[in-house]
Amino acid sequence: MSKEYQIETKAIQSGYQPGNSEPRVLPIYQSTTYKYDSADHLGDLFDLKADGHMYTRISNPTVAAVEAKIADMEGGVGALCTSSGQAASFISIFNITSCGQNIVASSAIYGGTTNLLAVTMKRMGIEIRFATPDMTDEQIEAMIDENTRLIFGETIANPALTVFDIERYANLAHRHNIPLIVDNTFATPVLCRPIEFGADIVIHSTTKYMDGHASVVGGVIVDSGNFDWAASGKFLELTTPDESYHGVVYTESFGKAAYITKARTQLMRDLGMTPQPLTTYMLGMNLESLPLRIQRHSDNALAVAKWLEQNDKVAWVNYPGLESSPDHALAQKYLPKGCCGVISFGVKGGREAAVRFMDSLKLAAIVVHVADARTSVLHPASTTHRQLTDEQLVAAGVSPDLVRLSVGIENVEDIIADLEQAL
Ligand SMILES: *Cc1c(COP(=O)(O)O)cnc(C)c1O
Repeated sequence: MSKEYQIETKAIQSGYQPGNSEPRVLPIYQSTTYKYDSADHLGDLFDLKADGHMYTRISNPTVAAVEAKIADMEGGVGALCTSSGQAASFISIFNITSCGQNIVASSAIYGGTTNLLAVTMKRMGIEIRFATPDMTDEQIEAMIDENTRLIFGETIANPALTVFDIERYANLAHRHNIPLIVDNTFATPVLCRPIEFGADIVIHSTTKYMDGHASVVGGVIVDSGNFDWAASGKFLELTTPDESYHGVVYTESFGKAAYITKARTQLMRDLGMTPQPLTTYMLGMNLESLPLRIQRHSDNALAVAKWLEQNDKVAWVNYPGLESSPDHALAQKYLPKGCCGVISFGVKGGREAAVRFMDSLKLAAIVVHVADARTSVLHPASTTHRQLTDEQLVAAGVSPDLVRLSVGIENVEDIIADLEQAL
């Protein structure tokens, strides 16, 4: 689809253009396998010499159409859908990082990613160096050495809601000939396109706003095509022969799509973190309304955040769209259309008052999930973090009174009325 189209048009039109008398809506190719006219053709597919589908663990026409839509929305050259956001995070890093190497990650990231990096990938011999948002460029650069492969951050951090200074970290990474990977889950390509600010790889948990209806777990990796792997000289896995494909050199055979091709043909083949055609079709359908939905989430959340800020039963409100937010300037730069639907705030009276507030809600549901059409709440101190003492909670950045509110796309007056009666 033409690069000139705006995001709203791409969300609808990109990825699937039917030919004469073909189905208007993307078909669900619920098939694991494909048929060939000759053994030679299949042989060429196995050698990556021909285009086409081989086996649904690696690619599928329905999934390919949704991948093309997301790549177009983010402004990348290619995308790879995965079975979950966790799979996208893992493959995006492991594609260019091996045992004995290290990465620098922002400390303000999703807790599941922190576990993946600090526990599971550490067991694979990959060292994680965490950069806190208050560090200077010099302090961050001191963490980068010849074995550092990439920098990783999250546009709007879940759940801290800090805004990642993409351009600054892209410049830091590029100064050391390494790429920047950005998890753009909360912002979506409608509110922010990290590639426009220098990010090289963008990933998502599509489980959140992209699906938007809390129905399908999934992830995606988008390759900008902008990072020059050959010029960097550090990424031998992309610039020297892959013996598992008869010596293909990804940068020579696939040019700007080297990274995303290797992620698919090598890691998807070996790890099998594959999305299903049926549920990827659902993701593609839901993406069509993403621009409308995320705007309403953002508008509703800003109105709710402003209302909470004025309420005398509320101790504090954290939302990057508020002028009181320490990240407001960054939000204006990176998120001019809005800051998504997630707000955190404190109820006066601490842990007990927060629990009483949650139990009194009628419209907003208590769930673990965030970022879908329905307004929902979570009180970490009494649920996900309930084993911790008040002191330990504060150390983890979760105050006992903290309520995480995921503002949905219902009528905002109804949402505020529910909060008011519960407070
Ligand atoms: C939820 C989430 C993930 C993990 O995604 P799953 O689809 O649950 O595996 C990764 N990053 C962010 C920012 C998330 O919110």
